[in-house]
Amino acid sequence: MPKKYHINVKATPLDMDYLFKFKIVRGENCINCGKCSKVCIYEAHKRRPDDPRRMADPNTRVCRNCFRCIQECPRGALEKSINKDFTNIGDAFWKPDMLLSLWKQAEDGAVPVSGAGYRGQFTGTGFDSLWTDMSEIVRPTRDGIHGREYISTSIDLGRKLNHLTFDSRMQLTSKVPDNIDLSLPILFELPEKNLSPNVKEALLKAATELNTCVMMPVAEITSEAEKYSNNIIPCLTSEETDKYEAVLKKARLVAVEYNNARPGNIPGLQAKIKKLSHALTIIRVPAVKGLEDNVARLAQNGAEIIHIVADYRGQELNGSKGTDRRLLKDIIRSVHLRLVEEGIRDEVTLIASGGIAMAEYVPKAMLCGADLTAVDIPLMIALGARIYEEPQKMLIIPEGLDKIPLSVVTQRIINLMGAWHSQILEMMGAMGIREARRLRGESGRAIFFEEVDRDTFGNLFKKREVESK
Ligand code: SF4
Ligand code: SF4
Repeated sequence: MPKKYHINVKATPLDMDYLFKFKIVRGENCINCGKCSKVCIYEAHKRRPDDPRRMADPNTRVCRNCFRCIQECPRGALEKSINKDFTNIGDAFWKPDMLLSLWKQAEDGAVPVSGAGYRGQFTGTGFDSLWTDMSEIVRPTRDGIHGREYISTSIDLGRKLNHLTFDSRMQLTSKVPDNIDLSLPILFELPEKNLSPNVKEALLKAATELNTCVMMPVAEITSEAEKYSNNIIPCLTSEETDKYEAVLKKARLVAVEYNNARPGNIPGLQAKIKKLSHALTIIRVPAVKGLEDNVARLAQNGAEIIHIVADYRGQELNGSKGTDRRLLKDIIRSVHLRLVEEGIRDEVTLIASGGIAMAEYVPKAMLCGADLTAVDIPLMIALGARIYEEPQKMLIIPEGLDKIPLSVVTQRIINLMGAWHSQILEMMGAMGIREARRLRGESGRAIFFEEVDRDTFGNLFKKREVESK
């Protein structure tokens, strides 16, 4: 059995204010009986250190909204109210609750808990309209994060052989391509240019500890980052390969923008990069209409790894604003099925990125047909960034982040990935899948709401439409 992959999470609060959904206020009629401190298992209520006869202000940041203290206070002295500043952050895709959940996961690396139970919608758009078949959840002692059986989240990148060939003496004649193994089906991407040096180094340090990699523009790779070369994926255009030979020589993976890497040039480009460093090449393809043709041509021309890049909300990059833009879930499915039809799906690795906002989106993207995902914005939300979407995307990086010690910033990113890893394990355990590699295109474990809706009500409503004519 392989050595169990473990992420070392540790409580790492950030010394800065963050917006919370509710504010808890202790009223004047509090008699300091201390009952609330006994019932709150999250220690939101404590006595004042300077005067233990009196209660301190409630610590909203640890509250999990179970409402127990409010119900049990003998004087009705506690009030919980919605914080308006909180509801203003995010928007239809990056919802305030999502941001808060990411922030909390980075605080302690724990699986998010909603004390008052889940009260949200059971379907939505994109990955929220994909349910997973959790019928294996009846065996919780065997599976998931508390189980005894090992569930592997590792995946490998690179070209695979469709079949092996042997000569007349039964000697293997196929050349087995190089592969790179990562412990998580998640790569990091820089969400913004010009991040402070401590944030960039923290991302690299965290990626190294987690056995994954950071994709970053080649121009941003400084000499200080050299010690992390094994975990950096330089991103560049094919014309820049000569200029940055020194960087490429140290890389295991290199990402090249599709615009400048025409399908016919792929074997030459990959050979050129391999000559420098044996690195595997990722071709970054923008998620535009007709993407399936581009990906199929690339795969037919020998591309090893193809990265589908959608926008920050997981939408197609072209098309008008609104409903005619496909979402990442549908884009991945369509590309995957096209490659299956062409008989080349097993040979190429597919990465998907854009709007991977929560842990559950990772296995869902894989069920749709991706081999792995790349994340960017959640890494910044873990560090206190806020995103506003109207009138346009605005990622507000907190002031003073550049002064926070490297160890703190790194641990928060590790914590976030620790929480995601636990959630992925829980989902895989509940689906009865032991290896992340087996998630790819496993649509038997996926339930697409649109299809259920159409199968259940499609004919019914069609009939009514006919009757009303
Ligand atoms: S339970 Fe109510 S009265 Fe007692 S300390 Fe808490 S807020 Fe005050
Ligand atoms: S609502 Fe629940 S979690 Fe929040 S402070 Fe009260 S008892 Fe603690």
